[in-house]
Amino acid sequence: MKILINGGTHGTEQIGANVINHFRKLIGDNDNLHYTIANPEALSRGVRFIESDLNRVFPGKPDGSFEERIAYNLHPVIKSYDVVIDIHSTESGLRSAIIITKVTEETIALIRETNAKYVLLMDITKGNSLISDARIGIGFEYGPDTSHKALSGTIGGISLMLKSLGFPVETTSKPTKSKVVFRIGESLPKRDGFTALNTITNYTMVQKGQPYAHNAQTGGQLTARNDFYPILFNEPRHTDIFGFVGQREHALEEKLRRS
Ligand SMILES: [Zn+2]
Repeated sequence: MKILINGGTHGTEQIGANVINHFRKLIGDNDNLHYTIANPEALSRGVRFIESDLNRVFPGKPDGSFEERIAYNLHPVIKSYDVVIDIHSTESGLRSAIIITKVTEETIALIRETNAKYVLLMDITKGNSLISDARIGIGFEYGPDTSHKALSGTIGGISLMLKSLGFPVETTSKPTKSKVVFRIGESLPKRDGFTALNTITNYTMVQKGQPYAHNAQTGGQLTARNDFYPILFNEPRHTDIFGFVGQREHALEEKLRRS
């Protein structure tokens, strides 16, 4: 199996470069394990992107925006690996989450070995995120960028995965026995004048009819059309949406359970 570990898809997220440094020191050069920083320009400037969100423009365009050109050049690189790991951080309060865009037996087998508490199946970005371009694409989103716990958790999760693939990696991290899975098929777009209620907590169900955002000026409220689990709510880097709408995937949870 050829593995690619990528960081810096979003330039405000340093965690990927730190994780890569760790594995570079630990494993060194290995024919089957390589590293990339997807958007070094955005990373050095400390901005999420230069012209467009790189994680929404795959497989890119040769004459498109700055990030569309990066995606276009990365596309054949990503295609040349069996597994592509993409490392992110989040300031939304989300913790210990693995992101996938397709469910295959190989993907399930790899994720089962990790320390993740949550798995997010992102139907909504299917087709244009970096991991969706890979044969087996796995995103890590374990917490805030400067959190030591997020860094050590991500390193632990990737170590467990590499170990299960036969790489010479030791770790004190343990695979989680069971994982909570959410399928994400839609987002809740922001509306002028409305802010998300601070009572909304990621992974905690919002019931049908329950308000999730309000307009302080008019007293207006936005209410849930159906029961849902808020995912990546109040992520300050998402300027156009309140967050994602998640539904529990019990069947996939069963498949991921370790006996
Ligand atoms: Zn990110």
